[in-house]
Amino acid sequence: MTKTILIVEDEPKLAALLVDYLAHDGFNSYCLADGLGVVDWVKKHTPDLILLDIMLPGRDGLALCREIREFSAVPLFLVTARVAESDRLHGLEIGADDYICKPYSPKEVVARIKAVFRRLQGFSAEQPSIAGFSLDKERLAVYYQTQLLDVTPGEFRVLAALLDKPGKVYSRAVLLDCLHEDERDVLDRAIDTHIKNLRRKIQDVSGKKEVIASVYGVGYKIEL
Ligand code: CA
Repeated sequence: MTKTILIVEDEPKLAALLVDYLAHDGFNSYCLADGLGVVDWVKKHTPDLILLDIMLPGRDGLALCREIREFSAVPLFLVTARVAESDRLHGLEIGADDYICKPYSPKEVVARIKAVFRRLQGFSAEQPSIAGFSLDKERLAVYYQTQLLDVTPGEFRVLAALLDKPGKVYSRAVLLDCLHEDERDVLDRAIDTHIKNLRRKIQDVSGKKEVIASVYGVGYKIEL
């Protein structure tokens, strides 16, 4: 199926150039030149990927990215002339999948877009995402906001259990029952270790710390 790329860019020449390159590779694109209508457009048209300039009239790209991430895990590249490392980190913390710095080669942008779709192929585009996670139960693979998490089978089973009912609190004992014999160590500790590792891996790809919440004296839940 033809993929639709939303280009949010206030420099018409740059936007037109990208549209040409993307069309050449079989992508549909749609351009918005200011920040104001972006969120509504995304909700209505659910693009397959967003290229989002940071410096925009109306609303800036970082605020838009944050708001889009509240309801969508669509692949999103921030496009910026600001190259400071702190900006890069900030962008990834608020949920951007990648950064593209101006000036860029349109060819390279298209190559990176294609790489994202290759990674998602037959996967989270069709796979329903739960609280930002997509699970592939056959391959024991997990994506969080389109990023592959490198999880062990034990971590996969704990996460899959928590995602069965996001927001519900699961006790360690219940989570322990999801594990195979060889994935347990000393009783409850196994769950805490798996949770600790999952949190670190989720944070590595998204910058988010609180995706799995502890409920004191009871267990864990997926934060919604
Ligand atoms: Ca701009």
